[in-house]
Amino acid sequence: MAERMLQFVSRPQAMPDKRAVAERRSDFGEIYKGFARERAEEQAARCSQCGIPFCSIHCPLGNNIPDWLKLTAEDRMQDAYVMSAATNTFPEICGRICPQDRLCEGNCVIEKGFESVTIGAVERFITETAFDNGWVKPNLPARELDRSVGIVGAGPAGLAAAERLRGRGYQVHVYDRYDRIGGLLSYGIPSFKLEKHVVSRRHDLLVEQGIVFHLNTPIGSEAGEMPLSELRRRHDAVFLATGVYRTREVATPGSGLPGIVPALQFLTASNRRSYGDVVPEFESGLLNAAGKNVVVIGGGDTAMDCVRTSIREGAKSVTCLYRRDRANMPGSVQEVKNAEEEGVQFSWLAAPEAFLGDEQVTGVRARRMKLGMPDATGRQVVEPIEGSSFVVEADMVIEALGFDPEPLPELWAQPDLVTTRWGTLKIDHKSFVTSLPGVFAGGDIVRGASLVVWAIRDGRDAADAIHEFIGAPEAEMTLAAAE
Ligand code: FAD
Ligand code: SF4
Ligand code: SF4
Repeated sequence: MAERMLQFVSRPQAMPDKRAVAERRSDFGEIYKGFARERAEEQAARCSQCGIPFCSIHCPLGNNIPDWLKLTAEDRMQDAYVMSAATNTFPEICGRICPQDRLCEGNCVIEKGFESVTIGAVERFITETAFDNGWVKPNLPARELDRSVGIVGAGPAGLAAAERLRGRGYQVHVYDRYDRIGGLLSYGIPSFKLEKHVVSRRHDLLVEQGIVFHLNTPIGSEAGEMPLSELRRRHDAVFLATGVYRTREVATPGSGLPGIVPALQFLTASNRRSYGDVVPEFESGLLNAAGKNVVVIGGGDTAMDCVRTSIREGAKSVTCLYRRDRANMPGSVQEVKNAEEEGVQFSWLAAPEAFLGDEQVTGVRARRMKLGMPDATGRQVVEPIEGSSFVVEADMVIEALGFDPEPLPELWAQPDLVTTRWGTLKIDHKSFVTSLPGVFAGGDIVRGASLVVWAIRDGRDAADAIHEFIGAPEAEMTLAAAE
């Protein structure tokens, strides 16, 4: 039934139902159910159709949110899908995992007083409805071009670029060192936030579109790796979207003891199991939290993913140590709430001093911290409180302090590939070109650890820049062999 808009005054915000805690602690299914049709229409109709929609301004993709909310409220779902897909390559993924409280929903004007429109949940509903009805089709090119683009990295940035370039008719080849596409969508983000069939479904569409994937194909200068020079020879342009993977380690006495593991190794093992793989390091117990006292160090979304994965694997206890307080943690408020509901203990204002144990880690000695004066960046300085040490028992410690870029110029023997002082690739932000002619870059390898929605934005924009660079005039293009 079509709904009238501006219902926010009389109709409260309602999120999709969350699965019961006891049920979700024991499996890796997504914790939110999708909206039922009527609920989606009712919630979409709360939008006040702002003349200046701050939700769209704060969406990295500039989604036409008020328009697709109105179409949803009017039950014009196919039109809503077409509009939503026009600006977002993977709307059903963003609807699930964007930190909406910091982006679109956090800037919804009715947030103050009435609680925001549930934009992410409606976005997910629109595309899931489109999949259910067979409206999601591969973006097939109208005709083929004889120009090709090589893309390194099958994460959201590489895939968004590939989809857009292929839609224009380019021959698109995506190279990835992993055995599956998706990058962190596959091997970083756990299934309870993003079930793996959602990624596999997109893989099938991209293959149908004619994108060629070269998996298990690392680019680099070591034996068995494909040199970048070879890619540059094969393709008219190359897009680098390799993400950031170098783990930051805690440098304290006891570092390196068995039982201390990097976050991404732990999450990758768990995600591989969600795909149905047998993971020897999990079977051996090395990357398995079952029956263990687990301590996770860090306060970002990766740390939240680790604590919640540990709970689902059957950990005896899970404690998160973070050196700042709840109000200053980088992780999403919603994720902390979910973790607390699931039984995670948070130890705020606590930093590790030493890892204890001889053959294997047995505990973490930590000390209490306090927040001091703001530094030059405006963030309060963290200072230790003398004599406040305490010990947390631990059979497994997971380090989740963030990621830095791998040193690509050295690893790839490309001294002319210029990086910033943070090790990210330096590009011209308008054209996405790196210091190497014909080589472009985007996503986390340029921004540093960021968000999926920004990676998609970069991929789409870089694709347009590459199209402009190759600049094939219509007359020079070849017709599809099939024509
Ligand atoms: P990636 O997704 O990292 O993909 C890079 C790809 O490049 C990988 O497939 C990799 O195998 C490949 N590659 C790297 N080097 C080579 C090489 N030499 N040769 C061939 N291939 C190579 N963001 C959100 O918005 N919401 C979330 O909830 C969220 N949760 C997260 C949870 C975790 C645990 C982590 C680590 C990150 C999370 N993020 C989240 C961030 C988000 O996943 C990233 O910002 C995003 O995936 C970056 O996309 P990308 O395409 O730049 O890189
Ligand atoms: Fe919000 Fe992300 Fe969707 Fe943009 S892409 S509307 S930020 S959920
Ligand atoms: Fe609707 Fe909120 Fe966006 Fe305004 S800011 S158009 S109320 S979703």
